[in-house]
Amino acid sequence: MAATASDPPGDCPSFVPVSFELFPPRTDAAAIALGRTIDRLAEVDPAFISVTFGAGGSSRQRSLTVLRYMLEHTRAEPMAHLTCVGSSHVEANRLVREFLDAGITSFLALRGDPPADADPDAGIGDLGSAAELVQLIHRVQEEREPFEQVRVPGNPGASRIRERPRPERVAVAAFPTGHPRSRGVGQDIDTLLAKEIAGANLAITQLFWRADDYLGFVERARAGGVTIPILPGIMPVTTPARLARLTELTGVEPPAELSINLEIEPDAAAQIELGVAFATRLAADVLAGGAPGLHLYTFNRHEAVLDVVDRLGIRADRLAHERNTTR
Ligand code: FAD
Repeated sequence: MAATASDPPGDCPSFVPVSFELFPPRTDAAAIALGRTIDRLAEVDPAFISVTFGAGGSSRQRSLTVLRYMLEHTRAEPMAHLTCVGSSHVEANRLVREFLDAGITSFLALRGDPPADADPDAGIGDLGSAAELVQLIHRVQEEREPFEQVRVPGNPGASRIRERPRPERVAVAAFPTGHPRSRGVGQDIDTLLAKEIAGANLAITQLFWRADDYLGFVERARAGGVTIPILPGIMPVTTPARLARLTELTGVEPPAELSINLEIEPDAAAQIELGVAFATRLAADVLAGGAPGLHLYTFNRHEAVLDVVDRLGIRADRLAHERNTTR
């Protein structure tokens, strides 16, 4: 069934892990505003907040600054997006180490895209896929932790090698409506399975506009052997210009109903209502279909995504859940 903005929300599970995505700010003023946004997002106790990584590492320092802010000022778990396209083994190794040294233990491992004007003969670097970056993250984490002998409790004289900590989450991207360069859904599922085999323990999807696109993809992924949770990525889109830009960036066509309604609605508040209502409906439908949580794209604004969370009743239920489980 296609999600529409006019339907009432369906049945939602009572406790739903929610996570958010931000991008690093480009100006000092945007950085100050982003600090306030992070504080507000952290109030709903998200499972994690992820920070994107500019193509070719262009945002490395700015991404790290945002992730450090989260570590120092909130209880939210920061997740760093990392891309490997164009990097040598040594550069990718150094990058992963730098983020681990900063205290980041959750990653979204991506291949990334070569710049549009890149020389096609130049190659894409030493790491050809996100799966290789997943393996590298695990390897670098292990190398940082020296082997250590620990005593076996209750068995005097006995010792064993201490288990070395693994990164908390190593997430990867998934494409419910297909990656723009993929030859077909079979290749998208095979790529996701390869990333799971490489050590990914979570997948986060590209935007999609119909609940069936996500639910059908999960079904095919399960049939293809993928077992890791697949989080649906949803964004409340509140202006026609942003919808047009997203379509250009992702290549995922929105339903005509949403684009036309946003386009013909002259009032900004009514446009916001359209976008939030649509995203809430879509979120409710995928949750009713078994989605293990929600990953909300924020566009660095807290208002619309927190409105979606409120309308789904997730915030109140999360607090109630915590009270019940800590008794
Ligand atoms: P991979 O998993 O390596 O592969 C992606 C697709 O490419 C596959 O599905 C497959 O169809 C095809 N493919 C893979 N290997 C081959 C092969 N050998 N031959 C032919 N086709 C192949 N980009 C950024 O620069 N920064 C970000 O912060 C960022 N965050 C993202 C967050 C999410 C949730 C998503 C969904 C995407 C994000 N991207 C980001 C975009 C991403 O980098 C691009 O979509 C990129 O083209 C693919 O990256 P990947 O990790 O999915 O690659």
